[in-house]
Amino acid sequence: MARKGRKGTAARASAKRREAAPHAAEARIVPTLSGLLAEKRVYKPSAAFRRQANCNDAKVYERAARNLEKFWGEWARKLEWFKPPKKVREWKAPFAKWFADGKLNVSVNCLDRHVKTARRNKAALVWEGEPGDRRTYTYWELWREVNQFANVLKRLGVRKGDRVAIYLPMIPEAAIAMLACARLGAIHSVVFGGFSAESLKDRINDARAKLLITADGGYRRGNLLPLKQYADEALAHCPTIENVVVVKRGGAEFPVHIREGRDHWWHRLMQDAGGWCEPAAVNSEDLLFILYTSGTTGKPKGIVHSTAGYLIGVLATTAWVFDLKEDDLFWCTADIGWVTGHSYTVYGPLALGATTLMYEGAPDWPARDRFWDICERHGVTVFYTAPTAIRAFMKWGAEHIGKHDLSRLRLIGTVGEPINPEVWVWYQQTVGGGRCPVVDTWWQTETGHILITPLPGLTALKPGSATRPFPGVSADVVDAEGRRVDPEASGGGGYLVLTRPYPGMLRGIWGDPERYKQEYWSRYPGLYFTGDGAKRDEDGYFWLLGRVDDVLNVAGHRIGTAEVESELVDHKAVAEAAVVGIPHELKGEAIAAFVTLKDGHGASDPVELMDELKEHVVRKIGAISRPDRILFAADLPKTRSGKIMRRLLRDVATGRALGDTTTLADPSVIESLKARYAEE
Ligand code: ATP
Ligand code: MG
Repeated sequence: MARKGRKGTAARASAKRREAAPHAAEARIVPTLSGLLAEKRVYKPSAAFRRQANCNDAKVYERAARNLEKFWGEWARKLEWFKPPKKVREWKAPFAKWFADGKLNVSVNCLDRHVKTARRNKAALVWEGEPGDRRTYTYWELWREVNQFANVLKRLGVRKGDRVAIYLPMIPEAAIAMLACARLGAIHSVVFGGFSAESLKDRINDARAKLLITADGGYRRGNLLPLKQYADEALAHCPTIENVVVVKRGGAEFPVHIREGRDHWWHRLMQDAGGWCEPAAVNSEDLLFILYTSGTTGKPKGIVHSTAGYLIGVLATTAWVFDLKEDDLFWCTADIGWVTGHSYTVYGPLALGATTLMYEGAPDWPARDRFWDICERHGVTVFYTAPTAIRAFMKWGAEHIGKHDLSRLRLIGTVGEPINPEVWVWYQQTVGGGRCPVVDTWWQTETGHILITPLPGLTALKPGSATRPFPGVSADVVDAEGRRVDPEASGGGGYLVLTRPYPGMLRGIWGDPERYKQEYWSRYPGLYFTGDGAKRDEDGYFWLLGRVDDVLNVAGHRIGTAEVESELVDHKAVAEAAVVGIPHELKGEAIAAFVTLKDGHGASDPVELMDELKEHVVRKIGAISRPDRILFAADLPKTRSGKIMRRLLRDVATGRALGDTTTLADPSVIESLKARYAEE
């Protein structure tokens, strides 16, 4: 692995610059990523990959930048329209409209137009349940199911513009339900199947959903989660719901209460539903869905996405970032309850006519090689997951991967958090066999699709960098006053903003236009504020530094969480790390680090290991980043989508009451950390 000699002259020079000019740090995040940048190893695409890539013309960036409307207009023309748009963009900041006079239907674009071609009998969706049951739907079969279910929804009174809540495990019915809503022009709001009754209730009521689609249960780590029971608890407080459709997933393992007149079994309704449902002609700007963010930084927001713009964005990025071909099998491991599942399990791959794989359960069930077993058996070629999963695989050890033949993989990707360079290299070597390009893709629920990313046939990769904005997307790094940060000056760190509108961008927050303006557009007039810290290097590559809210301020130096964490993870014993600021008399803030260790690296002498880790950080990025406190933890608090929640760790470390915990995956993790932190 190419991680030696990182503390090079560039690092020292940059450290010196920081010492010399601490005042310059006030308005920006001073990157100590110098260690990373000093390491010059880049991973160029092979000639063979480049040759076959869907996008291998480096001029696309310039062309798109020169004429944004033309660039996105070309993608729009790849869709099937009932009424092709004449208009391209209307921009009254912060409200955008794209292709506003067009009419189309998302389910037609994802299904009907493929059914008319040789793709008719091609697998659209390959599914595996946690217990090992499997189903494959051809494009024809999926199209039939969607038509039938759209008829079911119609019979239950669902009309264009109505909201439908979907609370399902990762089963094909989830995708079918989404596409059936799209066929009618109804707006879906998918609620992750791991959420509690309380969270479901809030989301249903916020959207004033008319109908709920759920299941009796879903499998997770060998257990059947009683989804219908949770739904019933929620429904006691959801006056807008008129009908509930229940998928029979679990069978008869526990009693399922069916309330006459309100609740209906999916399979019964489907029995006499017709196989053709006229697709609604939907306006480009009509909403396709509402989806709540992960809630890493606070209370989740109901993000809304439009029909045409969103579809164009996911189509373009699926084609160019994941490079899918007719014979690829694409597996995006995200749950459909998150935007990643929306965009890259369902809409992107199907719009492109590709084959998408969906898996219901946990990566370690029944054993820690389940993902690799799936990849091998199905012959997965393109694989997309999150850093949190990769860090878990690393923690568990490479032997689980070694058991399987992953030679079909040709491209691997990641999304959700900054990927630590160490983890990137491990992923590239161990999962990617040293041959697959790694696409580290930055985006948000709000952005709808990937925005900062390599194009695998073009981009020379640097571990830990999401590289460049996708063609047709403009991003920048600015200081507190909104001035562009010069990449050469004191490391070039600051706030990541988007400078031009693009078709897939959010259209707002459901029912709250004021919050939309406040949250994203109030900090810098005319610029979209992402909430993330970033820096750009001399090649124009973007390095995500973590959430702006989480940035540390140590003796006047603003330090992104990602860089300190990456240096901790760089140590051979460390699996995962999260750092937060704690008040300090002299420095203003000191660093507290929460660290989980790799299996088999439990310290015989924890104090010695703590000192070693502190020294390791100092050696790599300088004394300013030395953690004052280190706490070893069995686990870190994460959102249900797997992101580390530093704000709760900060509450623990500063003895404050815990903030919003409704999106925590496992509340016991933070409770036990709280108890231990107070003790130590
Ligand atoms: P909330 O907005 O409710 O706090 P959230 O931001 O976690 O939740 P998402 O939309 O799921 O909700 O996550 C988007 C965020 O995830 C980004 O703003 C960024 O912080 C992080 N992220 C996603 N991909 C990457 C990546 N490749 N590198 C670094 N960070 C990433
Ligand atoms: Mg966010």
